[in-house]
Amino acid sequence: MLDITEIFGPTIQGEGKKIGTPSVFIRFGRCNFDCNGFGVEYTTPSGVKKFGCDSYYAVDNEFKKFWTSYENSETVIAEVAKILPVEYKPDIVITGGEPMIYWKNEEFQKLLEYYVTQGFNVTIETNGSLDMKIDKPYQKEILYSISVKLSNANESYKKRVNHEALQEMISNGGKSYLKFVVSQNDENIIVEIKDILSNLPYVDVFLMPQGDSNDEIVKNSLYVIELCVKYGFKYSDRLHIRIWDNKRGV
Ligand code: SF4
Repeated sequence: MLDITEIFGPTIQGEGKKIGTPSVFIRFGRCNFDCNGFGVEYTTPSGVKKFGCDSYYAVDNEFKKFWTSYENSETVIAEVAKILPVEYKPDIVITGGEPMIYWKNEEFQKLLEYYVTQGFNVTIETNGSLDMKIDKPYQKEILYSISVKLSNANESYKKRVNHEALQEMISNGGKSYLKFVVSQNDENIIVEIKDILSNLPYVDVFLMPQGDSNDEIVKNSLYVIELCVKYGFKYSDRLHIRIWDNKRGV
């Protein structure tokens, strides 16, 4: 079963290496973290106040009743087909939650294989913490956009940094890159990033400003640009938040 919270687009990819690229998003439900350190306050359907990340509705099982369970890849492909433009092939972005929870699911693999073999560029947005192996040709064509969580997510190091999985995606995924969300006064996390990189082959690294509103992105962006210039990382904006704040489905 493939639990999907939303399928939307075409819109633009708002961040990372493919920023600005017209894309259709398939957002999977479930995550192996809750990242309460990110401090986004929300109320569950049963009325409990919690803290999590800005995708809490794809993470917290209390929202499961709003997700759609697809029995197979064909039904997902049929749903996506309803919003595909006729003029061109947008990127297909597999996101979450943590979509790599489904990596060993046969229907998930069929979904990936379908889009790659049909000539779509496919990105998987992942926290990079789950064991995985890339051994099929279509899996090597996928862009793995890896957002390794740092201590500010409030998850244990052992859970959030999986050197073997990172090595696998960077070495065999071909076009993979890392991205980190950074806020003001976060210069200490550069030490954490360098520690993670010290065990990996060369990989592009993007720093992005934290915030779930345009005001916060504006407030943090200059600081993050200065960090990029100082330490040699690439800057990525978060266009979707600048334009739509944290509105869903755009
Ligand atoms: S890993 Fe990503 S989706 Fe999961 S809780 Fe953390 S920020 Fe949210």
